[in-house]
Amino acid sequence: MTQFTNLGLAEPILKALAAKNYTSPTPIQLKAIPPLLEGRDLCGIAQTGTGKTAAFALPSLHYFHENPKPRPFNSCRMLVLSPTRELAAQIAESFREYGKFMRLSVETVFGGVPINRQINKLKAGVDILVATPGRLLDLIDQKAMHLRDVEIFVLDEADQMMDLGFIVPLKRIDKLLPRERQSLFFSATMPKAIAELGDRFLSDPIKVSVAPQATTAERVQQYASFVNQAEKQALLTLTVKNEAIDRALIFTRTKHGADRVVRFLEGAGLEAVAIHGNKSQGQRTAALQAFRQGKVKLLVATDIAARGIDVSGVSHVINFELPNVAEQYVHRIGRTARAGAEGIAISFVADDERQYLKAIEKVTRTRCEIVPLPENFAEAVRNLPKPAPARNGGGRPDRAHNDGRGRPDRAHRPDSARPDRDGETRRPFRRRSKGVGAHKSAVTRVR
Ligand code: AMP
Repeated sequence: MTQFTNLGLAEPILKALAAKNYTSPTPIQLKAIPPLLEGRDLCGIAQTGTGKTAAFALPSLHYFHENPKPRPFNSCRMLVLSPTRELAAQIAESFREYGKFMRLSVETVFGGVPINRQINKLKAGVDILVATPGRLLDLIDQKAMHLRDVEIFVLDEADQMMDLGFIVPLKRIDKLLPRERQSLFFSATMPKAIAELGDRFLSDPIKVSVAPQATTAERVQQYASFVNQAEKQALLTLTVKNEAIDRALIFTRTKHGADRVVRFLEGAGLEAVAIHGNKSQGQRTAALQAFRQGKVKLLVATDIAARGIDVSGVSHVINFELPNVAEQYVHRIGRTARAGAEGIAISFVADDERQYLKAIEKVTRTRCEIVPLPENFAEAVRNLPKPAPARNGGGRPDRAHNDGRGRPDRAHRPDSARPDRDGETRRPFRRRSKGVGAHKSAVTRVR
């Protein structure tokens, strides 16, 4: 097997990799690093979780090692664009770790935090800048920075950039970059519109693709339960209490929904934190840190906020609501199958979400195992503890007896008698015999 030591990377980088106990490159690293070391442009189809960050960070660090230069005032030598603040912070952290034996400055610029500190950092010049497009253009408009000295440009998560409506800012940024540079472009999916965006930035790129998306799904044991929207909270509380959870990431479709789920969990005595776009940067960082350090086991998130979150040891992903875009489901469950680990994904499917489940199963080419509602479910619905009162930034007043979409409460009419979609007798929620890493001994029943 190829080792990092065979790739020709500079000594300080190898030392940093050894400190992290990384010995062999992941498939994307193996494919991307050699052409990038030769200075080629690269178009990569890869998701977060494949080792993509190191795939672009390591050869770039090698370039800096071989080509030392003063930092350019009000600019940077390498620009990495990321769709979200969390991912930007995470990428910067990776650069700091992989470059810890080199004297490089790594900075982030993104919205939601004061701009002045960022302006000051940029004055002296930066080696590696990780930015979200909006704040970057703000800084450029304020004449606090320019992009004329960029030698390496990375556009990460291009499909997410498009989803977030960053296409116009990206086209502007493209015009501000120097022609002479190395460009890297990564996306989890490569439909025509994304490929066209890539063509703007790239020149004769090497094309690299790692395992199609379905492979993530294959490593995750996937379950689904059909349940009324209004009864999902009771099912969540039961699931969280009965599953052997190390860390669970719970996805909701809306920010308000995320806050509401947290308050219900807290009402049931289960500690949880939320992360979404209405939280301040400080709140988001604190929530992520508590989750990462294992102080809080339950993190409730919206898709955008969770994008790129790299926390190891997520044993469960719970889809409180299914995403209406099937690819998003793959991103979500990928949080629990990082770096070769296996995990469990549980989806709560309301009647109006069955179509999403079908689309998901088509994209992943896998079937979720349908799990019946537990026997004591009706009782659990009736006895669902009241939500904890809203805290700072906790959203609108309690609408506990409403399904969150303005419809009247249906919580007292559990629908557990409905047959599942195959008309099979409902079997208890159970784990496949092959076991799930560290959770092998867990009793996996929603009872
Ligand atoms: P990424 O796709 O860049 O978010 O990386 C996913 C996770 O895999 C991160 O926690 C990385 O630190 C880790 N990782 C990246 N490359 C390797 C490697 N060669 N060996 C082991 N873990 C790695």
